[in-house]
Amino acid sequence: MDLLIPDKTHDESRQGEALILGPATGKNNGRKLYIESYGCAMNFSDSEIVASILTDKGFETTSDFTIADVVLINTCSIRENAEQRVRNRLKEFTVAKVKNPGMVVGVLGCMAERLKSKFLEEEKLVDVVVGPDAYRDLPNLIERVDDGQRAVNVLLSREETYADISPVRLNSNGINAFVSIMRGCDNMCSFCVVPFTRGRERSREPQSIVTECTDLFNRGYREVTLLGQNVDSYKWKTTNKSSETDTQKQVLGMDLLDKVLASGEDFSGLQPHYTVEAGDVTFANLLEMVAQISPELRIRFSTSHPKDITDDVLYAIKKYDNICKYIHLPIQSGNSRVLKLMNRTYNREWYMDRIAAINRIIPECAISTDIITGFCSETEEEHQETLSMMDHVHFYFAYMFMYSERPGTLAAKRYADDIPDAVKKRRLQEVVAKQQEHSHERLKKLVGTTQKVLIEGFSKKSNNDYSGRSDQNTVVVFPVSDNYKPGQYVNVLIERCTTATLIGSPQTP
Ligand code: SAM
Ligand code: SF4
Repeated sequence: MDLLIPDKTHDESRQGEALILGPATGKNNGRKLYIESYGCAMNFSDSEIVASILTDKGFETTSDFTIADVVLINTCSIRENAEQRVRNRLKEFTVAKVKNPGMVVGVLGCMAERLKSKFLEEEKLVDVVVGPDAYRDLPNLIERVDDGQRAVNVLLSREETYADISPVRLNSNGINAFVSIMRGCDNMCSFCVVPFTRGRERSREPQSIVTECTDLFNRGYREVTLLGQNVDSYKWKTTNKSSETDTQKQVLGMDLLDKVLASGEDFSGLQPHYTVEAGDVTFANLLEMVAQISPELRIRFSTSHPKDITDDVLYAIKKYDNICKYIHLPIQSGNSRVLKLMNRTYNREWYMDRIAAINRIIPECAISTDIITGFCSETEEEHQETLSMMDHVHFYFAYMFMYSERPGTLAAKRYADDIPDAVKKRRLQEVVAKQQEHSHERLKKLVGTTQKVLIEGFSKKSNNDYSGRSDQNTVVVFPVSDNYKPGQYVNVLIERCTTATLIGSPQTP
């Protein structure tokens, strides 16, 4: 069981969503593409890159996989139930493939990377397996399948950022867009599969990010979310073309794991790796560059890492009205021993210090988090420290998960997954109940205030109401009026709230 309070970076309602574009322009190869995505915002953003690569080759998208020539599923490995969801979906594609034997079925993303060619043996109907850094090779791989072979490319890269590919975003609302600023992760949190499925961290050239955001703004978009697993370690070396010098493509991840395993029980070999030299473009610099595109363009970002978020970043957020006052700062556990086992490289006091810095520099800033319950050997007292940390911070939102052991990770190799499911679940329920209280309290305090809202469209429940988000990332619902339309900002007087939504009325312009 995973529970979460909705947030834009992992939108439960978008899981399994098919990407639909307009008719192919220019070339048309007469073939139909179906692509659906699971997992985090990075995966949805990657599917837009894949669609761009294939529509460029003349594919047209369809929302009906039964009539597609190529069916792609972009997958997530973060927890076991995410993988199970994909396996169930693949079974549904089996039936369609029996009726349409020429159909090419491909698995993309983290599960493809984790299982590699094993996928072809396990899931007999899969023809193509493509890891997150090999999407440029998809047209060739599909051709290989057309020639009667099965095809795999799971090479990870130290350089690939798809910086030159303009993602197609035609089924978005035309208002908010995700923009990847980096790929991969070097952190090796012991529970996490991401460093193995997405490879080493690399940052994207800053000017290409600014160009993409400017283009989005010129096309009417009013909010960009800058994406990375650890945005605070974004770094572009102006002296080198790439943030990594090794250009050789190779399967990565294992080298980091070896380093950690060799470093002994206290992980002393893995210190926070974020160091800045003169001339580097940092995340604080990048935020300023994007903020300067237009005061009418809102900037969000995710995810921040407690060990790397600097005061410079906080001052950049404070300095620009259009950088949203909202930080997603996953804590995972409130106990220092568990944090050490998780290899998060910060402790309880460090996290509290970062919270104090946010409250000092940007007092109005909303903070959300991720929490894992029942990590290996977590005691009842240690779980209580997570609850007391929640009381200390009063997070606005949280993603809350039971620990799910992932094969190949440090934790799977080193620690017993020894907390019974019933205990993990009970602890999760306690965390969720506390979070609901805190979310509700936070929103109740906003009743009577005026919030600047970017209108995103009709509310989920009624076409008589508009829905949008406040600067602090809370959903705000208010009656439709001829004076406003989606994509515009409106000041809304908050009159009441539920546990997750503010409700109000627009102020006269
Ligand atoms: N890079 C981000 C960070 O470090 O905060 C998060 C990336 S991960 C895709 C999102 C969240 O999934 C993590 O913050 C963690 O709470 C959760 N997660 C990752 N691995 C997990 C596991 N094995 N079991 C349960 N939750 C997990
Ligand atoms: Fe996973 Fe940790 Fe990297 Fe986040 S920072 S993606 S939790 S290894």
